[in-house]
Amino acid sequence: MKVPLLDLTEQNQTLRPEIEAALGRVLDTNGFILGAEVAALEKELADYCGTKHAIGCASGTDALLLALMAFDVGADGEVITTPYSFFATVSSITRLGAKPVFVDIDPQTYNLDISQIEAKITERTKAIQPVHLYGQCAEMSELRKISEKYGIPLVEDAAQAIGAEEFGIRAGAMSEIGCFSFYPSKNLGGMGDGGFMTTDDDALAHKLNALRVHGSFERYYHKWIGLNSRLDGFQGAVLRVKLPFLDAWSEARKANADFYRAAFTDAGLTEQIALPFERENVRHIYNQFVIRVPERRDELKQFLAENEIGTDIYYPVSLHQQECFEYLGYKTGDFPESERASKETLALPIFPELKREQQEYVVAKIAEFFA
Ligand SMILES: *Cc1c(COP(=O)(O)O)cnc(C)c1O
Repeated sequence: MKVPLLDLTEQNQTLRPEIEAALGRVLDTNGFILGAEVAALEKELADYCGTKHAIGCASGTDALLLALMAFDVGADGEVITTPYSFFATVSSITRLGAKPVFVDIDPQTYNLDISQIEAKITERTKAIQPVHLYGQCAEMSELRKISEKYGIPLVEDAAQAIGAEEFGIRAGAMSEIGCFSFYPSKNLGGMGDGGFMTTDDDALAHKLNALRVHGSFERYYHKWIGLNSRLDGFQGAVLRVKLPFLDAWSEARKANADFYRAAFTDAGLTEQIALPFERENVRHIYNQFVIRVPERRDELKQFLAENEIGTDIYYPVSLHQQECFEYLGYKTGDFPESERASKETLALPIFPELKREQQEYVVAKIAEFFA
């Protein structure tokens, strides 16, 4: 049996007629850059996230960059964030000349350890940028208290967390600006690059709308030095076809997660692997199902690959240890939980169309490995 980490074939084939019709509408109307499909999608996304505004852009990476630009983050600024995330979480900060100030992660959730944040705040702190890793929200209600106490805005890296909730509030609606990605492996994936930002603040929405088109409201008049970062009409059209299915897909991921949880427990494997920790009062959308394997993680990955089971490591190197960030002066040992996670985590297949037999096979092979 083959179990890929992610296979979009079934999803795309099922929706193929609707997707072709939607692409045809863009072709017929020449709405290639932003345009009517993107404008309609932005309304639907704002509704979905429970925010006043949603603003499309070219990628999740750009969403983060634009959000920080909206707060004028620059050379003398600091942004507090996690070292255990995708590269763009931090490159968005350094790209603006600002300094990422890392806070270690909670070993259970892999999200920011909020008890360590206040000690890192200085008068140069321009934003706090939590990541909702794997599809589970960081502790946003607690972060909100810190944000209000110090008057520092929150920027959510919600790239992996569209539809995730804490206390019934959706990702993107718990901060000044939420940042999302339509990279094909996310729960709502496009057919190319894309992203968007959410906000309830009219002034920020106004600025983000301009920043994504060279900082301009009126063509050839530039209020800010923005980016060329627009969502294209084809992506908008495809994403509008997919959005109505998003909740069913996220529920299917959650059902797959529950199945793994029961099966690994029944197989008596909870000593060898730690299952994902689900906090109370959250909706976890399981963009990834990540187990912790304290012993022999790389051997297990290799064994599963030999048995045609796809897995991946998110992420094998903490960001403070990346070669390009050496100049920041962090060193190995600075963020022990992040470093340990990079040696112990392993993502298993969890996509919505995964079959029960495939999951049983994954569990059986992991049991065989440890037997
Ligand atoms: C995917 C991702 C991004 C970047 O999104 P792109 O659309 O690929 O630029 C940023 N942060 C996190 C946590 C991600 O998972």
